[in-house]
Amino acid sequence: MNLVETKDLYVEYETKKGVLASSEIVHAVNGVSLDINEGEILALAGESGCGKSTLAKAILNLEPTVSGQIFYNGENISEFSKDKLKAFRQNAQIIFQNPYSSLDPKMTIFQTLSEPLEINTKLSKTEIKNIVLEKIEQVGLSEDCLKLYPHEFSGGQRQRIAIARALVLNPKFIVADEPVSALDVSIQAQIINLLKELKEKYNLTFLLITHDMRVIEYLADRTAIMYLGEIVEKGKTKEIFNNPKHPYTKALLSAVPKLNEEQNKEEFILSGELPSPTNLPKGCKFHDRCPECMAICKCNTPNITEISDSHRVKCFLYE
Ligand code: SF4
Repeated sequence: MNLVETKDLYVEYETKKGVLASSEIVHAVNGVSLDINEGEILALAGESGCGKSTLAKAILNLEPTVSGQIFYNGENISEFSKDKLKAFRQNAQIIFQNPYSSLDPKMTIFQTLSEPLEINTKLSKTEIKNIVLEKIEQVGLSEDCLKLYPHEFSGGQRQRIAIARALVLNPKFIVADEPVSALDVSIQAQIINLLKELKEKYNLTFLLITHDMRVIEYLADRTAIMYLGEIVEKGKTKEIFNNPKHPYTKALLSAVPKLNEEQNKEEFILSGELPSPTNLPKGCKFHDRCPECMAICKCNTPNITEISDSHRVKCFLYE
């Protein structure tokens, strides 16, 4: 069953490059239809600036949308009553990339973890304390940490605290936005394993945003590849890694040395840079960088083609 679903979602915002410059419209999310099943980890992959984080914020109702719909548990979130919206905000949490900037340096860890419970529940002080203790232990830290401040911890410990904070309200859905990319490589595996453990323990549903294909291969049940605000390929993670179809997916996989050697023999080098989302290319948005670009790709937009029951690609090569 889908816990989260978007239908033909568009998100735009205005940006100004300088004080005197005229504003431009950033077309961040362009017609995204995506479903996230209860209890799964869906990875959203793509280069920085492709719209992944904007899409996640829109799903969490933190970013206004231009058109399209977002459903949570089958209900359109734009039609939520005040009470339902409050419950949704408790049920849907986010873990950010940089745990240092996402934790208030003036608050002790106990204050950081108890604050959401004080604001959102009517629990007694003892009940709040018990939940805080339970969550800090679940992320592998001890009670002694609670009286300390964020600067007294390492990056990995701070991310554990950020994960504990995301868990205190017993959410069902968590957006993990590049959860390990700010951490030392030696610490990344610990945090990845912790997310996996917590997902199993609480049957959590994750939207995992990352550009690291190795993290996706290890953690995600399904993967969606995003390019300039569009989903260009999606499927089970095994299908995407063993049988990538879209030239952009092949390029992302080629960029990972181990994967390139063992799984993705075909080498696709990604040339050029992601075009500006203020001035979207005509036709297939990837055509300027695509080694397989055909004449049709420059003026027409490809449809979504079904490769298998669970595997879809948006590319003229498969139409
Ligand atoms: Fe490349 Fe054309 Fe496919 Fe776009 S539609 S990815 S340009 S082959």
